[in-house]
Amino acid sequence: MAKYQSINPYTNEKFAEYDNPTATQIDEAINLAHSLYKKWQHESPESRATVLHQVADSLRKHEDEMAEMMTLEMGKMLHESKEEVELCISICEYYAEKGPEMLKPQPVESKLGHAYYLKQATGVIMACEPWNFPLYQIIRVFAPNFIVGNPMLLKHAHNVPGSAALAAKIVKEGGAPEGSFINLYPTYDQLDSIIADPRISGVALTGSERGGASVAANAGKNLKKSTMELGGNDPFIILDDADPAVLKETLCRARTYNGGQVCTSSKRIIVVKSRYEEVLHELKNVFSNLKPGDPMDDATTLPPMNSAGSRDKLVKQVEAAVDAGAKVFYQYPEIESDGAFFRPVILTDIDKKNPAFDEEMFGPVAMVYQVEDEDEAIALANDSSYGLGSSIISSDIAHAQELAAQIESGMTVINGTWITSGELPFGGVKNSGYGRELSDLGMMAFVNEHLVIDVPHK
Ligand code: NAP
Repeated sequence: MAKYQSINPYTNEKFAEYDNPTATQIDEAINLAHSLYKKWQHESPESRATVLHQVADSLRKHEDEMAEMMTLEMGKMLHESKEEVELCISICEYYAEKGPEMLKPQPVESKLGHAYYLKQATGVIMACEPWNFPLYQIIRVFAPNFIVGNPMLLKHAHNVPGSAALAAKIVKEGGAPEGSFINLYPTYDQLDSIIADPRISGVALTGSERGGASVAANAGKNLKKSTMELGGNDPFIILDDADPAVLKETLCRARTYNGGQVCTSSKRIIVVKSRYEEVLHELKNVFSNLKPGDPMDDATTLPPMNSAGSRDKLVKQVEAAVDAGAKVFYQYPEIESDGAFFRPVILTDIDKKNPAFDEEMFGPVAMVYQVEDEDEAIALANDSSYGLGSSIISSDIAHAQELAAQIESGMTVINGTWITSGELPFGGVKNSGYGRELSDLGMMAFVNEHLVIDVPHK
């Protein structure tokens, strides 16, 4: 893609477009960021923590403006956009408060001498981000690396360029120095040459398997460290003893939050047979009560998808699933609108040969599977090329913890859907990528663990 345009998916009207940078502008941006990296080597994480608190304040001040831009560009409901800004404020504060302590030198016990390792910055990070959480995806990379002392260049998704520009402006207004966060609108070829530039030390991408594989290959070719936060097909396992109230509450947002466009939304609902009918009817209840409309309007509960193109892709995926034998248990009625609306659908009877079995459906599609028992549930959960998140709904927490350890995923939420916060590591295994963002693990993604040892001599 990489043709940067702001199109309101509720009206399908284009309201802004942005040019690609020239080679000179790219070179100047890299230079500015790299010079800041060199300067920051002589400054403490504590001094940057003070600035990061100010960035949080600046986000607080501009919450409404930022939230409106995100809703206009990718159609998420305004109250969810505001929640996203608040989450980002808390992530900035988390790293401002805890970050400097995390970067203290780590002693190492060794018989060979007095040893420790420093946790040092490595240089400029190229962040390549998706549209589904326009601000959160930026802040997950920016906040920890700011404390570490790694400046960030951003290539945001082609359909949220206004959110990218506004985020950069708000961060700057908070007092972040020039070069700490530079927003660019590069083509794919320009991105390749940025990654190859020796002044760039790492690449953080969140996005699809396809985008991740391409950017990771380029990072690998240039021996640049990378983190890849990719797609998911998360299992949501419902056991015999699931509390009905918890089940109802969790199902309510499992497949509809952010218009169903969350990497960790519960895409595969795996139910033991004693609860199967109840789950189908509960889900139907959730879907049929949705109210389509303008995502700016508080009364709306079914927003458009982020773009007409994504909607058309999802429609085709559902058609292919049905052609291959899946049954439609329920689909929302036709929606009269020019917007990129998708009619939420519940699919059952998906067998292993169905293309939908091992494919991410990025929108409000619930694929419901019936299983005999929990062993079959775990086996089905693990029968996927993805391994991002997972959920278990059960009243027996100790048992659910034992089962969680058997799931091949980076995260498991017991009695909840996906969850995120500054202190919780986020990431997956298998084709869902590698590396972690957030928490102390995310903080160390682009750190040089620099060993220092002094050897005693008699
Ligand atoms: P995407 O197409 O892979 O795009 C992500 C970013 O990579 C965008 O900036 C995109 O630019 C860029 N990109 C894609 N292909 C590229 C290439 N060949 N060369 C250079 N840059 C490239 O993903 P998306 O469709 O926007 O986002 C949805 C996906 O993200 C879903 O699969 C979702 O599960 C995943 N996701 C994962 C996480 C996580 O933490 N694991 C979080 C959120 C979303 P353009 O927009 O210009 O193409």
